[in-house]
Order: sequence, then C-alpha cells, then structure tokens
Amino acid sequence: MIRLLAATSAIALVASVPAAAQEFSIERIDQHIRTISDDWFEGRAPGTPGEDKTVAYLSGAFASIGLQPGGDLREDGSRAWTQDVILNRSTMTQPPQLSITIDGEEVAMVQDQDLAVRAPVNGMARVELDDVPLVFAGYGTHAPERDWSDFGDVDVTGKVIVVLVNDPDFEGGEGDFGGEAMTYYGRWTYKYEEAARRGAAGVLVIHETEPASYPWGVISNGNDVTLDIVREDPGAAHTALQGWMHVDVASRLFEAAGISYEEAKAMAQRRDFRPMELGATIDATLVSESEHIAAMNVVGILPGTTRPDEHILFTGHHDHLGTGEPDETGDTIYNGAIDNAAGLAFMIEMARAFAENGGTERSLVFLAVGAEESGLLGARYYAANPLYPLETTVGVLNVDGPGVHGPTRDFSISGSARLGLLDILTEEAAARGRSYSADPNPAAGSFFRSDHFPFAQAGVPAVSFRSGSDMVEGGTERAAEIAATYAAEYYHQQSDEWSPDWDLTGIVNDAQLIYGVAERLGNSTEWPNWSEDSEFRARRDASADARD
Ligand SMILES: [Zn+2]
Repeated sequence: MIRLLAATSAIALVASVPAAAQEFSIERIDQHIRTISDDWFEGRAPGTPGEDKTVAYLSGAFASIGLQPGGDLREDGSRAWTQDVILNRSTMTQPPQLSITIDGEEVAMVQDQDLAVRAPVNGMARVELDDVPLVFAGYGTHAPERDWSDFGDVDVTGKVIVVLVNDPDFEGGEGDFGGEAMTYYGRWTYKYEEAARRGAAGVLVIHETEPASYPWGVISNGNDVTLDIVREDPGAAHTALQGWMHVDVASRLFEAAGISYEEAKAMAQRRDFRPMELGATIDATLVSESEHIAAMNVVGILPGTTRPDEHILFTGHHDHLGTGEPDETGDTIYNGAIDNAAGLAFMIEMARAFAENGGTERSLVFLAVGAEESGLLGARYYAANPLYPLETTVGVLNVDGPGVHGPTRDFSISGSARLGLLDILTEEAAARGRSYSADPNPAAGSFFRSDHFPFAQAGVPAVSFRSGSDMVEGGTERAAEIAATYAAEYYHQQSDEWSPDWDLTGIVNDAQLIYGVAERLGNSTEWPNWSEDSEFRARRDASADARD
C-alpha cells in the first residue's frame, strides 16, 4: 500500500493495479468522447436534432455491446431504448424589456449584462411587471428546523425579491447551514421555489462568483429558453420573473437605499434579519411561446443472472447546452466534451466490460439521462416515474465530468453525504491504492447539482463519483490549478472540447474502481443505506419491507 501511494508516475500507478483488474480501452474511451462532443451533435440540447443523434449513438452502442433495451414499456411488452421525458419548453420570442427605477430615475437593464432573466415557465405567454417594488430578502431562506427565516412574517406577495446566493454561513465559514458546505438553501433552485411558495412576482439572485462557484458568463448564457417538467399548476412552482442580477447593479441599488452591499450582506447573515424595501421598482416585459417537447433518457440493461428484480443504476447525463451566440473565436457550439461526453464514454465502456463478463447476479441498468443542464430534469423524471422500482434499486453511481488529466491518488464524491455506498467505494479504492478525499469545495453545492440528487431525495443510496484531487503527477496543487482553469475557461463554455493532449489513464483507473464496486454489489445481497443521521435515511427505511 505504501508503495502504491508513493507512486510518482502514471506508469507506476497503472502497473501497480492488481493483475486481475478489469481492462478498459483508452482508445475506445477517447473515441467516444471525441465523437459525442463533435460539432455534428450540435451541443446535444434536449428536444433538438442533436439529442436525437446522441440517443441514436448511445442506443446503438448499447445494442452492439449486448445490452437489452431498458426504457419505456411498449404495448407488446417489449421495451424501448428510451424513456420519454415530457417537458415544457418556453422560448422568449423577443428580447426582454427591463428597467429599474431608482430615486425616480429609470435605468434600462441590459439582458445578460445587468440582469439575466429566464424565459418564464409560470404558464404565462406574456409577463408584464409594472413598477413592482424590489425587496431585499437576505438569502431568501425559510428554514424552521434551523430556527431561521429571512422572511419572518413579512409578506412579499406581488413583490420582486432580491436575494443573495449560497446560504447565510458561507462567508463566515461556520453556523447553522453546514458551515462552508452549501445546504440546499444555498441553491438558486431553492430560492426560486421559496419565492414561488410566497407568491412573489419575481426573484433575482445577486451573482457573485465565489459563493455561486461559477462566473457571470455561465449565467448569461441561453436564458431565452427555459425547460421544466410539465406541471398542472406551473404558477405555483414558478414566479413570473426568475433570474440573476449582476453584483454591480446590486451595489448601485443598495447604495441608493443608503447602505453598502457589504453592510446588507452582513445584516442578512444574522438571524434577526427581515426583508427590507429597496426604494426601487422594476419594469419587465417578457414575451414567450411554450410547447411540450419530449426529451429522452436512454436506458440499457444487463438483466441479473439470479436476482434480476434488484437493480444497480449507472447514471450520467447525455445532454449539454446546445448552441448559442458565438464566443470570441466565433464558436457557437457547446460541445460538452468533459461535461459529459466523458461520462458517457465511461458508461458505455463500463457496460461493455460487464456484458463481456456475463453481468452480475443483480441487474445492471445503464441510464443516460437527458435535460440535466436544465435542472436535472431527466433524472427527476425517472425518479418520479421509475422504470424499475426505487425500493429495490440497490444504489446509483453517477459520473459527470470525470478527470481527463491523468491519474489521481484519491477519489471523491460530490457533497458531504455519508452512506454505505461511500464505505464500499472507499474499501474498493483502498484495494487499488487510492484513498477517499472529501469534496474539496462543498460550498459549491454540487451534491444538489448532480443527477444522483433526485434519487437521494427519493431515498435511494446515490453518489456522484469524482476523480479526486491529488494527482499522481503534480499532487493537489496541479489538481487545484486544473479545477480553477476548468471553472474559468471551459465549464459551460464553447471551449469544452475534445483535446488530443488529455491523459485518460485516470478515467481507466476510475472505471476499474467503479467496476469493482458494482461487481461487488451486483453479486452480493447487501443493501447499503444512508448513515443514521442522513436526511435521506427515513425515506429509504420506509420501504425496508420491499428488501426483505
Ligand atoms: Zn454535467
């Protein structure tokens, strides 16, 4: 073990993997990534020809490997390769007209520069806000179990609330909201939901790169199209106006209100904070068209040899952001090579390895979900409409954006959840000379931003695997550098493209580790659960009878 940990080159590490390790082909993985991230796939946006091509590629690959179709049940009892995910797509048909009136002076707001508002999904084709008061609502958080409410008994019905990103103890690093780690209260999705519950007319999240964990450029992309799962009463789930406010605009607003942005933030970090009128109003006209579209999950299955009714799920999203305005190089296509063509390559080759070896006692399901970038919609849809019962789904192993820069000495998972699956991962990693490192940036809230989350909410033990942050070559320093460069220059940008310079030996190590975990689970009668203190434990335990 010590010798393994001391390995200083990729060759040494690969050479020290036990001889029985499952083999994976770097060439095949590379070819899948290169193909799936090709311009021909047009950025793989849900409901576009690019998605159709992706679905065809994946189902073709699954079929040629020898998986069986595992998607929607047809009338004749057979299954399709896909699960239809019915979505509502709202598209703005003209640029939004936006202005804020401060001290009687109306200031035009430029979409994607001052504000970034999304095509409305509250069921209204035309949203018209006329002189609606802006109210600062702190972190927009109502958390009775933590004795915390940014709203108190202040009614924000019909107002537009302006809120901070992340949660109240992010800056201080300790407090009632998990310290540096982000709770769900820190996510913009939560803030949108809470604003809708309170009948607000709108919600604008003030963007700051550090607490958001991504730059403004990520927010100012693709707001003219918003997707949501189809809802009976979309107005109950969404306010009319949803979006982000640039921090410079926020600073001006607070200054006009007589306090600095920093002072306002400090107030919001206190338990006694209550909403404050900003003395400014907003005008907004948003015009959109809505239609129902079917995005798709692609599903292949290797039926279990002795216990086919127990399932292990491999998940990874197949969609990306499609096309948009040209970047400075004139590129309009969001290729999503790392995010998540790499995860799909991983999944396909995982399926091949298990198929070649005859599967396991339990069924293995390879579920490539769609519409992840639109809010985990494919995974949410599956969790709400499972093809295989969730109670007897042993666990979910999600991969999104595996490392392409070489092997690591460790691995990680998104967020700081504790569960039996992680214990198994840690044991299997140790057997391969790797150790577990906690999510290096739990403040980014990636636990809530990965496709395993809807499964976790439904009680199914689920993790999003990560490649680790201690590189065999360059250690944690190089890993941090790579992560920072990725966040600033590639993540959700046109530049996330296949590169001949990658070192995919790390993905192979990751695949060997996940293979080991799935093989062990697939041939066991174990039902790993969440830790006793996990918020997901009760939900799982409620269906314990199904696993007797
Ligand atoms: Zn992704």
